[in-house]
Amino acid sequence: MSTGTLEHDAAMQPTEAAADPARATRFGWLRGIRSVKVIVGLVIVLVFALVAIFGPLLVSTDPSAVSNDILHAPSAHHLLGTSHNGQDIFAEMIYGTRVSMVVGFVAAILATILSLVVGLTAGYLGGVSDEVLSLITNIFLVIPGLPLVVILTGTMPNAGELAIVIVIAVTAWAWGARVLRAQTLSLRKRDFVEAARASGESTFRIIFREILPNETAIVAATFLSTVIGAILTQASLAFLGLTSVTDWSWGVILYWAQTQNAMSYGAWWWFVPPGLSIALIGTGLSLMNFGIDEFINPRLRSAGIATKRARKRAAGTRSRTGRPARPVAEPAAAGDGAAARGDVVLEIKDLRVDYLSGDSTVRAVDGVSLSLRRGTVLGIAGESGSGKSTLAYAITRLHESAAEIPTGQILYTAADGKRTDILRMSDRELTDFRWEELAIVFQSAMNALNPILKIGVQIEDAIAAHRPSMSERQRRERVAELLTMVGISTDRTTAYPHELSGGMRQRVMIAIALALNPEIIVMDEPTTALDVVIQRQIIDQIMELKDRLGFSVIFITHDLSMLIELADEIAIMYAGRIVEQASAQDFYRAPSHPYSRGLIGSFPTLSGSKRELTGIVGSPPDLRALPTGCSFSPRCPSVTDECRVREPLLLPLPRVGEPTTPAVDATSPGTRVACLLYQNSEPVAAAEADRS
Ligand code: ADP
Ligand code: MG
Repeated sequence: MSTGTLEHDAAMQPTEAAADPARATRFGWLRGIRSVKVIVGLVIVLVFALVAIFGPLLVSTDPSAVSNDILHAPSAHHLLGTSHNGQDIFAEMIYGTRVSMVVGFVAAILATILSLVVGLTAGYLGGVSDEVLSLITNIFLVIPGLPLVVILTGTMPNAGELAIVIVIAVTAWAWGARVLRAQTLSLRKRDFVEAARASGESTFRIIFREILPNETAIVAATFLSTVIGAILTQASLAFLGLTSVTDWSWGVILYWAQTQNAMSYGAWWWFVPPGLSIALIGTGLSLMNFGIDEFINPRLRSAGIATKRARKRAAGTRSRTGRPARPVAEPAAAGDGAAARGDVVLEIKDLRVDYLSGDSTVRAVDGVSLSLRRGTVLGIAGESGSGKSTLAYAITRLHESAAEIPTGQILYTAADGKRTDILRMSDRELTDFRWEELAIVFQSAMNALNPILKIGVQIEDAIAAHRPSMSERQRRERVAELLTMVGISTDRTTAYPHELSGGMRQRVMIAIALALNPEIIVMDEPTTALDVVIQRQIIDQIMELKDRLGFSVIFITHDLSMLIELADEIAIMYAGRIVEQASAQDFYRAPSHPYSRGLIGSFPTLSGSKRELTGIVGSPPDLRALPTGCSFSPRCPSVTDECRVREPLLLPLPRVGEPTTPAVDATSPGTRVACLLYQNSEPVAAAEADRS
């Protein structure tokens, strides 16, 4: 690790930033306004709003006053002509605009509140609440809207405006609720929400601070469509004569024009203005809707697509203890009498993790025992599907609800020597433990960062939750310190996640993980999504920070050559089990398990020494139907008949001439391997004898 990395990284940033066209997002909403469609839409709606607010104050003519000017065409005296009983249509239009707009907007506000409550509750809480609320939503969706409104209004003869507003709101919320529920369902799986939940944030705060702001565009779009719908519904009801026909609205004007045969008299001035107004306001609102996504959050949609691809959780979690932060320069192990480099900080014993789906059980982690020494890197490698992430989640107890841990222990030894089983921690203890003692960096940084909060704010939020006593200035300083540590210049504090390159986002995640000086950082494929050069820089940075701060790392990857360079100890996983565990040197010199040899053969080494890529034939097994005997036997080049019937145990590699001695202590040094090539065959002889 060269000390030049930080400078080098800092020097890189202007290029990375310049490459990002969306840099000026603080004023990003201005781009929405610049769109011609949005401007036109805004102007139309604004004009109607002004007429609705001020029109009736400026027009002295009473719209209901009758006169002898029967069916006059538009003139200077009657700007929009008159009706069958000499009423001034211009005055009717001015007053009517107010009623139509007020009914439309108020009904839409009520409907939107209803959809928010129902949609967010159903989507976030899930379970029975979701089922019940979705059922109600679906019932409202299948009932044809207008007939329902007609029936409801029919029960209230000459219904006043308030009654109409309520009827429209009650019949208009369901669509929005469904859209918001779907959006909430997808957001609640996002890493920043998981992280907030894991940290013990209240449901109310999660919904309103983490989820709702990300739905602003959808809420706004839903609201505008509902306004259009409400105005149309009100007009239809009035046109059918179901509202009070003396409260002027566009629909009421149309009602009179229709009942008094305006069409047959050719009195176009009677029905064209209200009809045109309805069409115009609809156009204006729709135009605003077109621009609304960019208007509020330019990247919301692309983030949504990224979510579908990357679904890993990330979490840094928060405690309520508010312990003061350990000074950054002081290595974690220093000064803590009981802790010394090399003692075991995390010991996993016989851990099993099952995924329960319906009546089938998939054992994704099967009897894993591993130990992590303080200040070192334990690397875990294996093909995709071998159970690495499941293991990482189980260690942090962030595993999905479908996963269950039937057996095992995960013993954590704190710097003061106190040992605790993570699997037995109470929720309260877990909240204190995660992030303070053990932090997590997962693969998809884009998914783990809240797209609409500046990165500085996100790091600060994280610190604030754990260190309530810290002043805002101290938090700011800590944020700057953390960003500098991971090689991001402090002027990026106000950047949004999408303004950063993938590598920089992953650095932010590392900064968040480091925020509280944890003892252990679990990294699940932290660089897999990045290109090789950036990958290299980040790995160097992690190693440099580890040496400086003294934390320990569990590093998970499918890239074995990377692992050999950075790990002290390596464990290879296959079909949920550890098949080989060795020091990185021993492993590199002589991988023992045929699967390990195949894996090494699958990757070019980073340091450049060329070897032929042999790879491994076949693909990882289906965990629901594992082959008998050794799970690797169908793909193994050294397979024997015995391998297909007898399951190998993970045992220390015997030296030449030494018999195998069963040992289950994961902390004992030396290579352990689960392969019959290295194990005497007495038990299988016994097994065969049993069968015959
Ligand atoms: P890795 O990280 O090594 O790619 P994972 O831990 O993600 O592996 O997955 C291991 C296995 O666990 C998968 O092959 C799959 O069969 C199973 N699995 C993972 N997640 C789930 C889940 N949510 N429900 C059921 N099975 C799962
Ligand atoms: Mg994984």
